[in-house]
Amino acid sequence: MNELKKILLDSIRANGPMPLDAYMALALGDGSHGYYTRQDPFGSKGDFITAPEVSQVFGELLGLWGLDFWLRGNRAEDFNLVELGPGRGTLMRDMLAAAAIRPEFGRAARLHFLETSPVLRKAQNRALSGTGAKAHWHESEHKLLEACKGAPVIAYANEFFDALPIRQYVQKEGRWRMRHVQAEDARLVPVDIPTEIEEELPPATGYDDGDILETCPAGELIMSELAGYIAAYGGGLLIVDYGYAKQAPGDTFQAIADHAPVSPFDRPGDADLTAHVNFERLSSIARDGGCLSFGPVSQRGFLTALGLEERFRVLEQKADARQKNDLAAARRRLTGPDQMGLLFKALAVTDKHSPEPAGFETTGQNA
Ligand code: SAH
Repeated sequence: MNELKKILLDSIRANGPMPLDAYMALALGDGSHGYYTRQDPFGSKGDFITAPEVSQVFGELLGLWGLDFWLRGNRAEDFNLVELGPGRGTLMRDMLAAAAIRPEFGRAARLHFLETSPVLRKAQNRALSGTGAKAHWHESEHKLLEACKGAPVIAYANEFFDALPIRQYVQKEGRWRMRHVQAEDARLVPVDIPTEIEEELPPATGYDDGDILETCPAGELIMSELAGYIAAYGGGLLIVDYGYAKQAPGDTFQAIADHAPVSPFDRPGDADLTAHVNFERLSSIARDGGCLSFGPVSQRGFLTALGLEERFRVLEQKADARQKNDLAAARRRLTGPDQMGLLFKALAVTDKHSPEPAGFETTGQNA
């Protein structure tokens, strides 16, 4: 049994069942044994491959998205280029490379990263080493926004919100019960118990017995703070992640270890834990915070609108046969309807005076 599982079993035996979000936070972020604290989980050797690791085209298009937003806006000479959960730093490196066609953008940008993992902070530092850019790291969105000092932001979050701890509520006999983690012999198992925690949930009577509703208080807080900042000081936020466009009941809590699905309660700290992002909720929080929201649109639709086909065609012209195969595979991975193309979605949030962000022409602004 791994160390973190022992610690969690002891703590639950001493203090009683642990809410699911507390469990997820420790499994991913525990200072010594958490999944992100211990390792670099990305790439073909790691547990999963994210879009920036699939192809440079992803980062290039997102970089041009920000550059375009800045150029059509007021071209602030001092703004904050923010990334939440930058992983290996690949996305930021590729974004800066593409945006370098207008050097004044890079000169005006101050880089801020929200990152808790020491291993990944090092990787991010390495990724930026050739770019001349210097990042400032922060542990909480609150501290990050303080450091932004009232200047506008252009912010990105790719596969960040899916890693934030969720709560689950299970409908039983017309009432919501909150999912906890319980110790049963040497095993961690879910248990649903009536709860004192007051969250705004829809009436349980509208749901069937056994239906599961998920909330993500940590993600909602981050969105609300960022939206408040953007409404006050200007800018935009782009979220790309997998999730649902409309809130619906369902259990999306999942674990991946060594490329394969495992039980989320089996090997805390060894497995990546995620849940689908509720875009409807994030978008409504942004609007409540005084911002406009655009999308969500599919990753396929978004990247295609930004010029994905054209960019791949240019790369193919310079490629040999093997590279052509790799490029075709990467393009399929990013946009294939059975791969990342439809499950992954893009949502943008801006202040009310900025130009409309690129890539959302088909859906326009949300009311
Ligand atoms: N954006 C990257 C990595 C996605 S994985 C990519 O697309 O490749 C999630 C990232 O968020 C990791 O960098 C992880 O360390 C970070 N992270 C997860 N939970 C966090 C939290 N609560 N606060 C800050 N960073 C967090």
